[in-house]
Amino acid sequence: MGIVLDLTNLLTKPIGSVEKFDIRESVQFPKEEIDLVAPIEGQITLTRLDNGIFANFDLKTKAKFTCARCLKEFEKELDLKFEQEFYPETENQKEEKEEGNVFFFSPVKKQLDVTELIRQELILKIPIKPLCSPECQGIEK
Ligand SMILES: [Zn+2]
Repeated sequence: MGIVLDLTNLLTKPIGSVEKFDIRESVQFPKEEIDLVAPIEGQITLTRLDNGIFANFDLKTKAKFTCARCLKEFEKELDLKFEQEFYPETENQKEEKEEGNVFFFSPVKKQLDVTELIRQELILKIPIKPLCSPECQGIEK
């Protein structure tokens, strides 16, 4: 499925309130994009702002890559440490959402879906030339 945070509690609290979420979720993205072989785990800390939510991500997972030199498959741990602001979703903002740079939460459902953001951050982490080790000698002759 995905990683969806329940904002029921945070949205009733005053501005500046903080809530931590422990995450351990198996998420599958299209394999041609990134092949995760471990759950996404760690912590997401949300802070309520007057006009939105500030999120601090401290997560890790593992993905399978194919070495660009020897063509062997190997697994590599990926750290996901980043920050992002989210704004309350309204009808007018539906179009902006398509742009992909602005992220929203649903004040009606009181949910924050971070799956798409995590997908984008993971894709940024994919090495252009993945190597099983820096000393990889390539295909044996
Ligand atoms: Zn290799």
